[in-house]
Amino acid sequence: MIHTFKGGVHPNYMKAPQVPISVVAPPAEVIIPMAQHIGAPCKPVVQVGDTVRMGQVVGDNPAPVSAPVHSSVSGKVVAVEPRPHPLGDTIMSVVIENDFRDTPCDDLKPLTEEEMKDPDVILKRMRDAGVVGMGGAMFPTHFKVRGGIGKVDKLIINGAECEPYLNGDHLTMLNFPEQLLKGIELVRIASHVEKAYYGIEVNKQDAIDLLNSLHPEQYGIEIVPEAVKYPQGGEKMQVFAVTGRRVKPGALPSGVGCNVVSTRTCYAVYQACYEGRPVIDRIVTVSGSAIGRSFNALTRVGTPLGYLAEQCGGFVKTPRKIVLGGPMMGICATNFDAPTIKGISGVLYFTEDEDKSVKDPHCIRCGKCIEVCPMNLEPIFMYMYYTKGDYENLEKYHVMDCFECGSCAYNCPARMPLTHAFKTAKLMLQAKAAKEKAAAEAKAAKEAQK
Ligand code: SF4
Ligand code: SF4
Repeated sequence: MIHTFKGGVHPNYMKAPQVPISVVAPPAEVIIPMAQHIGAPCKPVVQVGDTVRMGQVVGDNPAPVSAPVHSSVSGKVVAVEPRPHPLGDTIMSVVIENDFRDTPCDDLKPLTEEEMKDPDVILKRMRDAGVVGMGGAMFPTHFKVRGGIGKVDKLIINGAECEPYLNGDHLTMLNFPEQLLKGIELVRIASHVEKAYYGIEVNKQDAIDLLNSLHPEQYGIEIVPEAVKYPQGGEKMQVFAVTGRRVKPGALPSGVGCNVVSTRTCYAVYQACYEGRPVIDRIVTVSGSAIGRSFNALTRVGTPLGYLAEQCGGFVKTPRKIVLGGPMMGICATNFDAPTIKGISGVLYFTEDEDKSVKDPHCIRCGKCIEVCPMNLEPIFMYMYYTKGDYENLEKYHVMDCFECGSCAYNCPARMPLTHAFKTAKLMLQAKAAKEKAAAEAKAAKEAQK
């Protein structure tokens, strides 16, 4: 049986999983931003002039929702200062001059077999190795898994990789299948659940067959084949496809007893526990019309985006836009000096040919945006209320439940900038709520002084 969800679209997938993993030569200088996760940013724990080893912690924060960051090369710290961040703005970063020796740091030893049966030891290792949601969410994995203990009875591993272009998960399945199954088993043990369900779209049948040939049941894993449809990899879509449970608007998957963890995150957990290796690299799909070819590049964290393009043969056309992640939900980067971080699964360099926006678009009321919204929202009305600045109706039409998947905009024949509008609308509502909260607190403080 093939599992799926209601709505969604079928974009041109543009995938190239047949392109083998290539190793990007590490740059002369890596830039390690202190913010590579949701939660409290790290503070640098090294100073200019320090010598660091590959895998050494260079930033940390004891806050519960945080994860340390590590040097991806060995060398010398040459700067601790704000640098451009790939997601915008500048962020405190540790800049390391590469000595090209890759002298390893052995602070993290591989766990013993006994230790790998202990959920607390695994959770601590996830944190110490800086494992965060590497599907793009970048939520610290130790916190997410610990938060689900006692509430979650179904662990779902996201193997959909439904965004066009991206191949890193598929290649991880094909090249490291046993390691991946062991990583999933560790996340399952840490989650205190009996079974993990690995949802994989059937356009990766070769990976499904390979994983099934390794008897996933011995690791407490069942492979769940899923329809090829975007956004199958959305957390709520995965939960519904695998379990038939519906996550309520505004709620998390844990509200219906589920936790969703990405493929690459599970592989990082394997490396952390079996190899004592923190998150210092990952497969990044490099593609787009400005590059002209596709690469599945094993890239050190902290590699500048411009250098990455050079290593992939440079540009064949002038790049206009850099997209981090996939083209549907990815974020635009503006600076070639900004580095890759743990959560970046793809870097797409596009020319102006991909710019499909039209001047002054007009809705033709065809309803095609409503047909495809996997959240059962009504984008046509949300857009109308956005243009009017009507906060009340934006809330009434549940704009906060939009997870910006882009399906509506993709399906809109009038090319209305729907996703962009909803992203802005959500920020507007958040700002309004924060302003109201501050005003209420100020009023309460004034009352208390009377
Ligand atoms: S798909 Fe586009 S044109 Fe059609 S109703 Fe929705 S917003 Fe309007
Ligand atoms: S309204 Fe939001 S969730 Fe629905 S299709 Fe559009 S972008 Fe996706």
